[in-house]
Amino acid sequence: AKAAGGHRFHFFAPEMNQRVAARLALEADLRRALERGELLVHYQPQVSLRGGEVVGAEALVRWHHPRRGMVSPADFIPLAEETGLIDALGEWVLREVCRQQRQWLDQGLNVPQVGVNLSARQFRHPDLVGLVAQSLREQRLRPSLLGLEITESAAMHDVESAIATVTRLRSLGVGLSLDDFGTGYSSLSHLKRFPLDHLKIDRSFVSDLGTDPDSAAICNAVVGLAHSLGLRVVAEGVETESQMLFLRRQRCDELQGYLFSRPLPAADYAALLACGRRL
Ligand code: C2E
Ligand code: CA
Ligand code: CA
Ligand code: CA
Repeated sequence: AKAAGGHRFHFFAPEMNQRVAARLALEADLRRALERGELLVHYQPQVSLRGGEVVGAEALVRWHHPRRGMVSPADFIPLAEETGLIDALGEWVLREVCRQQRQWLDQGLNVPQVGVNLSARQFRHPDLVGLVAQSLREQRLRPSLLGLEITESAAMHDVESAIATVTRLRSLGVGLSLDDFGTGYSSLSHLKRFPLDHLKIDRSFVSDLGTDPDSAAICNAVVGLAHSLGLRVVAEGVETESQMLFLRRQRCDELQGYLFSRPLPAADYAALLACGRRL
């Protein structure tokens, strides 16, 4: 078996090199994309379950590549995270969202909060709080117009320092959501110590609602848990009427998903806000 290992290495080597080369090319491309302005932000509305009005949005980065077309964040965020490019990319998204909110305000739009995703690495960055404060100040933005989404796994990685960071961010006045909730392992005693304002139920539970009784139980439990901690619950990835009806019975607070709207280019989202904010 040992001897075969040597052959296997030769067999796989060209393919490995191709993969590494493709990654390096993508990394170099991504670096240039930032400089050339190929990144943009789409906004996915979040609606209240009570009245159906738009009560917030999530900012989702998009990469319009000159040759590859639209590249999904699922393909480049993990790469950006591994290579450290996420710091520059994340800073760009944060500044862009603040700039956009300011522009909409100046146009007289009544804008709700926009949530920006923070990757695990950004969340651990020592200057994060300073960057957020500066981004708000630069645009003279009311802090409550900005939300931040951190994943459950990033929050629970090093709980003590995560609590300290979330506490400092919250004291700026920005919103804070725990994202992809249910996919990690939070203990209730830890969760209680995070000054959050929203929990987001991961899309995987919402999409299985009709078929998997466990998912229904998890959604139910998350809503109960969140409410007992005084948090609002957002369900993401709502695609069907029956998912919506189930989540309404569970007293979920806000919904986000294709049933209401896909992530929208900034202009389309602004048009939605301008025409009365209902979906
Ligand atoms: P996420 O934070 O869980 O974002 C929700 C994802 O679900 C988005 O995918 C959104 O387009 C998608 N989605 C929303 N509603 C539905 C639905 O009804 N059905 C289906 N099938 N999908 C729905 P997207 O935009 O491709 O982003 C993927 C992930 O990339 C995000 O997952 C987030 O982890 C990451 N990401 C996106 N933008 C940023 C960013 O600016 N910074 C960082 N750090 N991560 C980002
Ligand atoms: Ca998110
Ligand atoms: Ca999410
Ligand atoms: Ca998710």
